[in-house]
Amino acid sequence: MIETLKKYIRPDVFPTPFCPGCGHGILMQALLRAIDELKLDIDKMVFLSGIGCAAWIPSPHFAADTMHTTHGRPITFATGIKLVNPKLKVVVISGDGDLSAIGGNHLIHAARRNIEMTVICANNSIYGMTGGQVAPTTPTGAKSATTPQGNPERDFDLCKLVKGAGADYVARGTVYHMRELIKYLKTALQHKGFSFVDVISPCYTQFGRRNQNTCGGSASSAIMNLKTAVSKTPQDGEILTGEF
Ligand code: SF4
Repeated sequence: MIETLKKYIRPDVFPTPFCPGCGHGILMQALLRAIDELKLDIDKMVFLSGIGCAAWIPSPHFAADTMHTTHGRPITFATGIKLVNPKLKVVVISGDGDLSAIGGNHLIHAARRNIEMTVICANNSIYGMTGGQVAPTTPTGAKSATTPQGNPERDFDLCKLVKGAGADYVARGTVYHMRELIKYLKTALQHKGFSFVDVISPCYTQFGRRNQNTCGGSASSAIMNLKTAVSKTPQDGEILTGEF
């Protein structure tokens, strides 16, 4: 953690609970750097999360108002907070399973209503904390605890889903491309209306170990592979990044 970000962190909560090599620590730092570069007043922000590894990014780490809600429901709590006090900047950070499966309806309807909040999806293509079950974002053919022979279903493109529902700022970055990710987060945080950033953040513990053909043989290779896995005009198996 770089020195200038220490003021945003509760001093008694480190180290984080994330596995070594998890992308979520990088996302945590990218978000704090975006807040710092924008000089936002963290006392006028509220951070909400649901259940899962990504939910630990803001809570209990941020020295701010945080709300660790029930599974799939952070957007509903965020909607209530925004309605009661519209001056607060409301930020939801949660995982792909939490936001797009259990909380899928809340995601699309918040986008449709254009409720002013920033939703950051820490997307690791699997349910990490609960044991590596298949998620709506697990790629076709990928192995999980519940699809040991490979996922037979198609996966959700969350950016297309949210854009189709009406969100007018939608972006996708990765934890490898830090500067680009910070730029997207800064734009989302300043956006008037609903904004969504899909962040590709590898989980080697639950996804990578089962899918070494795409992730390599270590947590670091799973992150390093992102360097060449992204494209603005993707071919088969590549990840589309950018602002949509
Ligand atoms: S299980 Fe996966 S997502 Fe959860 S902390 Fe470990 S590496 Fe990160």
